[in-house]
Amino acid sequence: MKQLASLFFIVSSILFSGNSIAQTSKTLLTGQSSNSFNALETKTQEALLKMQKAALKDGIKIQVASGYRSFNRQRQIWNRKYKKYEAEGLVPDAIFNKIVEYSTVPGTSRHHWGTDMDLIDANTKYSGSVLVTDKFHGDGPFCRLKDWMDVHARDFGFELVYTLNENRSGFKYEPWHYSYAPVSKDYLKDYLKEIDFINFLRSENILGMDQISDERLQRYYIEHIQGINPMLNPKKD
Ligand SMILES: [Zn+2]
Repeated sequence: MKQLASLFFIVSSILFSGNSIAQTSKTLLTGQSSNSFNALETKTQEALLKMQKAALKDGIKIQVASGYRSFNRQRQIWNRKYKKYEAEGLVPDAIFNKIVEYSTVPGTSRHHWGTDMDLIDANTKYSGSVLVTDKFHGDGPFCRLKDWMDVHARDFGFELVYTLNENRSGFKYEPWHYSYAPVSKDYLKDYLKEIDFINFLRSENILGMDQISDERLQRYYIEHIQGINPMLNPKKD
């Protein structure tokens, strides 16, 4: 009887953990869960460690310049930029367009998921801002990293999100931003299914959100949130 009870416990805990993986919570998807360690998602972290080891053998020291980012942090960034452009006399629509060239609307950043990160090479000399396209091309300091990632990233599950592709909409090219596809594909699927996007944005004290039209926000939803490398699109059911 005892054995039967423990068997039941094992089976039910497997079923339960299976459930919790399938259902990604809304707070996680919008960067509002408590992540006191500022940590990457577990499987992403494991895959990253493997990739870092392999790269190091080729003399490249992959370093995360920016990994997990919370909703609150993204809102600070957004509101600071918003105030700056407002002070320069820009109207809300123009401010919105300007900020979303490179920054996400809080609650819509893939960095909220812990599956996405901005990568640089710590085994090279550089100065100034690191997340600059020129540094990843030509004879820039992170060129070797970029070349290495072009060949190997996919073997470890990582994909560039904002690719250099004229047909891609949304954010500008970011040669540093990678996503761990096996997890982030599912997160995006859940995000598109679960999040009441416009209502969410209007209720979270994000500057400008009471001024921007539904239509503009809808366009951001399609062009920016879904304007990614097709390798990261969720599988169809
Ligand atoms: Zn990024």
